[in-house]
Amino acid sequence: MIAQPKASHFVDGAYVEDTQGAKIEVIFPATGEVIAELHEATPSIVDRALASARRAQAEWARVRPVERSRILRRAVDLIRERGEELAQLETLDTGKPIQETRVADWPSGADALEFFAGLAPTVTGETVPLGQDFVYTLREPVGVCVGIGAWNYPSQIACWKSAPALALGNAMVFKPSEVTPLGALKLAEIFVEAGLPAGLFNVIQGRGAVGAALVTDPRTDKVSLTGSVPTGQKVYAAAASGIRNVTMELGGKSPLIIFDDASVEDAVGAAMLANFYSTGQICSNGTRVFVQKGIKTQFLKRLKERAEAITLGDPRKDDTQLGPLVSAAQLDKVMGYVEKAKSEGGTLVTGGKRAPMNDGFYVEPTVFADITDDMTLAREEVFGPVMAVLDFETEAEVIGRANATEFGLAAGVFTADLARGHRVIGQLQAGTCWINAYNLTPVEAPFGGMKMSGVGRENGRAAVEHYTQVKTVYVGMGPVDAPY
Ligand code: NDP
Repeated sequence: MIAQPKASHFVDGAYVEDTQGAKIEVIFPATGEVIAELHEATPSIVDRALASARRAQAEWARVRPVERSRILRRAVDLIRERGEELAQLETLDTGKPIQETRVADWPSGADALEFFAGLAPTVTGETVPLGQDFVYTLREPVGVCVGIGAWNYPSQIACWKSAPALALGNAMVFKPSEVTPLGALKLAEIFVEAGLPAGLFNVIQGRGAVGAALVTDPRTDKVSLTGSVPTGQKVYAAAASGIRNVTMELGGKSPLIIFDDASVEDAVGAAMLANFYSTGQICSNGTRVFVQKGIKTQFLKRLKERAEAITLGDPRKDDTQLGPLVSAAQLDKVMGYVEKAKSEGGTLVTGGKRAPMNDGFYVEPTVFADITDDMTLAREEVFGPVMAVLDFETEAEVIGRANATEFGLAAGVFTADLARGHRVIGQLQAGTCWINAYNLTPVEAPFGGMKMSGVGRENGRAAVEHYTQVKTVYVGMGPVDAPY
């Protein structure tokens, strides 16, 4: 048990255990080894978490914004001081290469805390002059927020949700994915060490049923979910019964469009980042790579060379560039999509096999060319290192095909013609877009999806809308003019 936490849950400022809850085994995806054993939250743990959040939030809402910020800033410093230790834990929890977890996961989480700590004291209402009378508005916290995380960026998700929530005066009960439960507990510890009052950030473990219990509890005011579309539909519907505010960050099947005037080297690099980073387990990945016919041969040649040079291996090693998938179940799912792409007529350019290594859940970086819009690989989210390359001829054609999906999370365009870049992006139905870049998600910028990919935005100023509510106050300055 090389990563066993002190206890399964962190409630009201301290670790707590309840061994009555069903067991959760945490597995290191590179070896299949059990690295920790936790228990699901029982109804009593769920109750304690929500009760402490409710109590703590009422007081936190009255704390001056600069004081809230100061505490969050201290948490940022602690995260950065412990960067290496946290990156190692993230690698054990997720199987992602240490070269990624050192720069992407906790660092981005710390950035979010720093951003919202800075922003919170600037969040104010407005005054509306009405002649003699006037209206002023207040931006008040929403209250108790439930955060539910996916397994691909567990610590970053915990930070991205708690940062605006706490900075703006809310409390949070966070349920990580049962597959990756460790990082959020560290965040709870760090918050308390930084001076955050007990009860404001609670972490409880469990599978979907624990998430569902949190979503429907009358003490919950808001739900922020990162997960798949089917889970999003269930959680959104359950939250609707209590007219609860929601943020939904869901899946995607995002287009990355490469015109034949683009730099092939840059486009290949971006397509690889958009499909192989985090072993392809990123919601905003550009998993439909549309390549204009004029550069198809050149593009596939460089892509194959560069994909075959990727170093697969133990994610704890500095030089490993591609780690395992997160779980055996995910491995089966991804291999199922690979087999389907072969049987439906895709041309395998490289990869396509499991890479048996120390019993880990490895798949080779895989590229399929000649994928058509009707094939499963072009329609469903794989969440693995499997790139689908599709051909196109004209701008109008590719825009129509790129939009022909229920998803609308992200999109990218590569072209040397910036006017075309903006024109194409202007017509794509996606919440987060890039021109001559891909998958960069700085916390200063709003992130989220259109269509079935989500509701609301995380990060940027846009998140303020989703973690506060407006109170309108009409001030009468003269006598009441009643007609009776
Ligand atoms: P899931 O949708 O399976 O689960 C997400 C979370 O919801 C988990 O913590 C899960 O618990 C929980 N959950 C499941 N059922 C319920 C329920 N009925 N009520 C409340 N909570 C529930 O997603 P994965 O964890 O498999 O993550 C992969 C998915 O997440 C992909 O589809 C990906 O696109 C999406 N994603 C979206 C992102 C975005 O920002 N748009 C970012 C990252 C991922 P448990 O798993 O423990 O059962």
